[in-house]
Amino acid sequence: MDDSRRGVLLCRAIVEVYEGIVRRKAGLAPVIGVTATLKKDLDSVATRPLGSFVRADLDYVAGVAQAGGVPVVLPPIADVAEEMAGSIDGLLLSGGSDLDPGYYDEAPLPELDVTLPERDAFEMALVGYALERGMPVFGICRGLQVLNVALGGTLYQDLQSQHGNGSIAHRQQMPKWQWTHEVEVNGGSTVAKIMEVGGLRVNSYHHQAIKDLADGLVVSARASDGVVEAVESRNLSERWLIGVQWHAEAMRDLGHEHRNLFEAHVAAAERYAIRGAAA
Ligand code: MN
Repeated sequence: MDDSRRGVLLCRAIVEVYEGIVRRKAGLAPVIGVTATLKKDLDSVATRPLGSFVRADLDYVAGVAQAGGVPVVLPPIADVAEEMAGSIDGLLLSGGSDLDPGYYDEAPLPELDVTLPERDAFEMALVGYALERGMPVFGICRGLQVLNVALGGTLYQDLQSQHGNGSIAHRQQMPKWQWTHEVEVNGGSTVAKIMEVGGLRVNSYHHQAIKDLADGLVVSARASDGVVEAVESRNLSERWLIGVQWHAEAMRDLGHEHRNLFEAHVAAAERYAIRGAAA
């Protein structure tokens, strides 16, 4: 390495440290974009016209804020997905309706539920831009599935009819803060390190799941019937991607392990923001 190259690297390192100090001193927390759904309002009171409303469960945004991030709810408008990706430091893909199986080249099975074309188009575009930029992505429930499909994986459109005998109930009737099944967390995984657990009791609100795992992702946790319950990128220090099939946002009050996921995501977003500021 010649002297000028060494000088550039040294300058860059100094700038990185400086940016970190400035950000913390100024109280600049990373901005986490949280995807939302569209909900038709069927109320016909005269003072509130009918329409589609952008809606995100408070648990997601509260989870981000509790972890030290600044949550912003992203409306599903695909035309501005790229600009939105440019204005956030981390992406939280939230739960919701079934993803259109066309995104993994399958025709819909009769068991497929309702899909929302605007949301699917927006999230697939947005996650593409986020991956291109190397932004930390945290997927929850549908979010894990969107992440897997965006990276080239596929889904079971319906576990009950496709996953065969021996499936446990993944569509619980109980409130979402109650656990209904256990998962085994791979001891060597980063998810195990972040959550500080080997096994876990989780809620379960899905009838879809990962079928073919995308290249670049590894399984971090499974249910007793083999269903994939958590994934992470092969090398998290290079590319921070984590997805969980359960609703971690609704279980934050039950123990530190679910909060740890939000904190790890916000911390990764902060590192991403500092790298961007230094570049
Ligand atoms: Mn489950």
